[in-house]
Formats: sequence, structure tokens, C-alpha cells
Amino acid sequence: TTSDLVRRGERSAALREQALRRTPGGVHSNVRLNGPQVFIERAKGAWLYDVDGRDYVDHLLGQGPNFLGHAPGDILAAVERACRDGMIYGGQHPLEVAAADAVCDALGWAERIRFGVTGTEQVQAAMRLARAATGRPKIIRFEGHYHGWLDNILIAPGERGWGPATAGQTPAHLADVIVLPWNDADAVRRTMAERGSEIAGIITEAMMINTGSILPRPGFLETLRELCTAHGAVLIFDEVISGFRIALGGAAERFGVTPDLATYGKAMAGGWPVAALAGRADLMDRFGTGEVNHSGTFNSSTMAMAATLATVTRLRERPPYEQISGYGDALREHLVALAAKHGVPLRVQGLPMAFHVSFGTDDAPGGDVADHRGLSRLDLARYERFAAHLVDHGVWVAGRGIWYVSAAHGDAELAATVERLDRAFATWVADES
Ligand code: PMP
Repeated sequence: TTSDLVRRGERSAALREQALRRTPGGVHSNVRLNGPQVFIERAKGAWLYDVDGRDYVDHLLGQGPNFLGHAPGDILAAVERACRDGMIYGGQHPLEVAAADAVCDALGWAERIRFGVTGTEQVQAAMRLARAATGRPKIIRFEGHYHGWLDNILIAPGERGWGPATAGQTPAHLADVIVLPWNDADAVRRTMAERGSEIAGIITEAMMINTGSILPRPGFLETLRELCTAHGAVLIFDEVISGFRIALGGAAERFGVTPDLATYGKAMAGGWPVAALAGRADLMDRFGTGEVNHSGTFNSSTMAMAATLATVTRLRERPPYEQISGYGDALREHLVALAAKHGVPLRVQGLPMAFHVSFGTDDAPGGDVADHRGLSRLDLARYERFAAHLVDHGVWVAGRGIWYVSAAHGDAELAATVERLDRAFATWVADES
């Protein structure tokens, strides 16, 4: 993996040895096992600075949250102000009201919202609500999407199809989950026709950014919407990555399809740990009556609400979307041109704010892939080796191929990245041959 290949500085390597004495794998989230595993001292804007004095242009954004760059001054100031008056009250506070209004207004379609801390728990709340509202057990989910790490939703491909993804998870944990290929409207149509009366809801990433930055086929989300409405099932968009990133109003704005419930996190709060479940009043109000449980000690802290309010207000008043798209498009062009210069057939797909970089195979030489099956035909191991060279030359990416762009990426970052990419291609091509 990328983390095995990265050349760490002396202090980073020493810290990693120390970390391994106390921390399994040296990391606190298994997603980071395949990250650079370099120790960072501080970060500002689009830059990371490690403990050995090296700097990196950040295209991972902490897996997405740092959409405004690291330590954005205006958000930081709002959070500091809020924290000075305490964090958790076991009571309510005015910022909760303002943040709830700000998020619902920005989304446009959402009538109610509950805040929490992680995307994982918001997905759980959404599924519970769908089951409670319909009185049905099954949830349809799709191959290759990620909805958090819990037993009842996490899956991986195995010899006999999709099933448990980790030791300690049993097939019974997934008994109420139906897994279908994504972007395949007929597969969903067939399943809803056969088993519609058992199906509480469909959960989908509205755009499959995490794995492959794959857009929904024209008509696919519309079909999910129609089928859910026709069969009385709940349509859940998991917008933990796409929310506030692909547009202020997320997938509903970008693709013109409105879900019943949607999860948010990451870009919504400028890097602070906040997530949300938003949706239709008649569904969400089941939390309010106490019929359906949703809880959390750290939900809606003053810090979380200040970060959310300041971020969403800035995204509305000074939208960065055009600038980020321009940057992402320019960066993609440079990537493709540099790859050609070094004689490598690089593939890039997705949106400029979150695109996917990969290498083809004889099986999949060109063109966008449309689902997880297409993605698995690419040469993903080759990209992991490339990613290690990128990190060595000061471009911060993980091994999965996703590149994020933030509002803090500008001319200086582009020039630095292009120069670093050129050197990374050179050492990598030499290494591969
Ligand atoms: N859903 C999606 C689409 C995600 O990308 C993620 C995390 N990458 C999650 C849910 C889980 O969020 P968290 O890591 O905050 O629990």
C-alpha cells in the first residue's frame, strides 16, 4: 500500500514507531492505514507541514472536511468565541436555532434537521427512521458505496457476492440489507417490483465520490425517486461527501432530484466534527415525539453550531464553487498533460472539486467507469505506488485516487503542484521500469 512505500522523514519515522507501541496500526481510523502515515505538525490553507520540516499541497483535505482550507480564520474566530462560553450545556442554545435555519435554507428542500458528530451515526438514524415510518425491514444499498463502518451497513465484495467486510461482522448483521449494482435502474426496478412491500428505503451516495468520483447516469436518481414514491419507501441520499461540496444545495441542486432524508458532514462545518440528518417534516418529527430514538452527548455543541453556521453562511454569501471548479479543471489538465509528457496513460474522471485519478488496464483502457465493477477493472495498485511518489514530492494524497480541491487552493498552490507532479512522475516512471 501507499503507506508502505512513502519515504518518511526521521522524526516522522520515530513517532510512528512510538505510536505503534500504543495504537493499533499507528492510526486511529482504519481508513488511514492506506494513507501516507506521515506525522503533521500544523496545517494552514491548502498546506500541510510535517514534523521533519517538509510541506505538502493538500489534495486529501482530511478525507474531505477542509473544503475551506485548514484553520480558516473566520470560522476559527466564530468557534473560539463560542467555546469561551462553554461547549455542552445539557440544554439548548441560540446557535442551534440559527444553524438549523442556515442549513435547511441552504438545502432548500429540507424541513427539519438533527445535528450529530459523524456521518456513520447519521446513516443509522436515517435507516431507523425509514424502518419506523414504513414498518418494513429492508434497506437497498449499492455496491461500492460507503455509509460508515457499522455492522448493519458495511459490506465488501467476496467470493460469494457482497457480504461482511470485516472480521467480527456476521452475515446476520446484513440480513436486512439488499445490495444492488449502482447506476443500474433495471436492477432496482426489478427488486422493487418483486419485494417492494418489504423495502423501507433506498440509501445511495447521490454521486459516488468516495470510490471513483462516478456521476449518476442521466435518469438513475429520477428512477430511484419514482420507485420510492410508488412503493412508499424512503429515499435517502448519503451526502456526507457531496453535501455543500458539489453545490451549496448538494445533490438536489446539482441533479434536480429531491430525497426524503439526507445525511451531511465534512464540508458542512469547515473541518470541525459535525454531521447532520435533514429531511421531510413528517419523517423527522418522529424523533421529536420520542417515537424514534436519536441521541448523542456531543450533538450540537456550541463549537459545532458555530462552525456550521459560519461555514454555511460563508458558502452562501461568498460561494467558492466557481473558483474551486476552475482550479480543479486546471489541475486536471496539468495532470493529463504531465502524464502524456512522461508517457503514462493517466485517467481522470468526476467533478473538478473531487476527481478520481487512475491508470487503465487492457480491460479498461479509456472512458469513464460507471460503477464499482468498472472501477475494479482499473490498475488501482499502480496508482497506490504513484501516490507514494506524490507524497514524497510534496503532494498530499491517499492511495484511493480521490483528489479534493479546497477554496484555499490558488495560483501559488497550482504552480507548486505542477512542479512537484513533474518530479514525481519522473521518479515514479523510473521506479516502475
Ligand atoms: N457516508 C459517506 C458517503 C462517507 O463518505 C462517509 C465517510 N467518508 C461516511 C458516510 C461516514 O462518515 P464518518 O466517517 O464521519 O462516520
